[in-house]
Amino acid sequence: MSTGVRLYSTLTRRKEEFQPLEPGRVRMYTCGPTVYRYAHVGNLRTYLFADVLCRALEYLGYDVTQVMNITDVGHLTDDTFDRGEDKMLVSARLEKKSAEEIAEFYTRAFLDDTRRLNIRRAAHYPRATEYIPRMQELIQRLIEHGHAYQVDGTVYYDIASFGGYGKLSRNSREQLLAGVRGEPDPRKRNPGDFTLWKAAAEKRVQVWDSPWGPGFPGWHIECSAMSTALLGDRFDIHTGGTDNVFPHHEAEIAQSEGVFGHPVVSYWMHGDHLMLSGTRMAKSAGNFFRITELEEQGYDPLAFRYLALQARYRTKLSFSPDALAGAARALRQLRARVAEWRSGPDFAGARPGSAGCSADSAGESWSFPARFRAAISDDLDLPTAMALVSELARSDLAPHIRASLLLDWDRVLGLDMGRSDGTEAPPAELPPGAVELLERRSRARQKRDFATSDGLRDELAAMGVRVIDTREGQKWEVSRR
Ligand code: AMP
Ligand code: ZN
Repeated sequence: MSTGVRLYSTLTRRKEEFQPLEPGRVRMYTCGPTVYRYAHVGNLRTYLFADVLCRALEYLGYDVTQVMNITDVGHLTDDTFDRGEDKMLVSARLEKKSAEEIAEFYTRAFLDDTRRLNIRRAAHYPRATEYIPRMQELIQRLIEHGHAYQVDGTVYYDIASFGGYGKLSRNSREQLLAGVRGEPDPRKRNPGDFTLWKAAAEKRVQVWDSPWGPGFPGWHIECSAMSTALLGDRFDIHTGGTDNVFPHHEAEIAQSEGVFGHPVVSYWMHGDHLMLSGTRMAKSAGNFFRITELEEQGYDPLAFRYLALQARYRTKLSFSPDALAGAARALRQLRARVAEWRSGPDFAGARPGSAGCSADSAGESWSFPARFRAAISDDLDLPTAMALVSELARSDLAPHIRASLLLDWDRVLGLDMGRSDGTEAPPAELPPGAVELLERRSRARQKRDFATSDGLRDELAAMGVRVIDTREGQKWEVSRR
């Protein structure tokens, strides 16, 4: 059965019809943060993409379970990184804290940052340090299946043993070898072999016993262990940033498929980078902003969310203060309009469903709700969804319909469109009976029965409700006593 949802698969390099393994359910794994430093807004763009994907699938009727790991050990990104301590420990030393304290501190900071951006919480945040026994079990099985070998307490993955190695990144064996930096490690059978378990050098704090001696896990095995432990040996979607394609996800495929003997992930999806002055925003390059820094500069963090929604997740997005200021302005305007449209008396009875009907009956052959669903179903086409937001805001649909549709779409967009920005006082409560009178007056005006409508206006005024007629219909104000 067609689901009507299409997702771009990095593996096949085309949009595929989305077919969940279990009807109505989606199981998704998102490569999470390394917690020895703060996340920057580039990192957050990637988590925003995963968040909007979850929200869109839920909006389309799926029950979504998202798992996001917390890398709280190692992060041995390549095998040249071996000076007896890892980045986590460098931070621990510099900040005079234990590795656990560092991890705890930056995990909290990460979760705070995601909250600022309305990135909803995942169902599970497994910590790598809690899955060491499972990583060892997978490594043991890889050795048994002939995919891994041990030298001096370190276990390597033998890439030549896995025919599919390179299928995700489309790297040929030659390209993979050309990418190996530094002197080839003489203990490896193939210079491209990667580390599953690393023998602990001196000065390490995070060390675990293992069948191969004391050591710690490689970064890639962490995600194979945590994803399959929580989502099973087949799950629907795996997300990350484009830099995760190689080597991280290529290695994850080799490991997970090497253990289970079949494909584990149905759809690999990757978000492209946030750029600053033409280069990728990166901590190592020193060109980055934290979301809290933008907030300190006076920006609403959701202005960054608005900015990110204007680009397709698969294209690079340039960050600039001007672009952010533009997004902040547009978001403020949108919220002000929604607040205004909601304050009409018709709003209370409006439902998104009825909005759809109204849009149809207003002569639209293809209603706004259908177009929104089509946009988010088309590989999360958010620029089109955001263009629809503008088109709807400018449309001649009744204000309360515009407001209720936008608030419905905000379940996906997450922009807090219903929030008043504090520039105006919250609308005062209508006195009892006023809603009925306002509705009767609205109907009277539609029938051009001005005698009745004038009488009702006087009645409302006596109750402390001042009615103003505008081109968009009647509005009201409650005098505060
Ligand atoms: P890390 O904590 O370094 O593992 O990165 C966390 C996530 O952020 C990974 O999924 C990366 O792919 C992603 N990432 C890193 N830099 C950027 C960037 N400039 N734009 C978007 N995503 C990024
Ligand atoms: Zn991962």
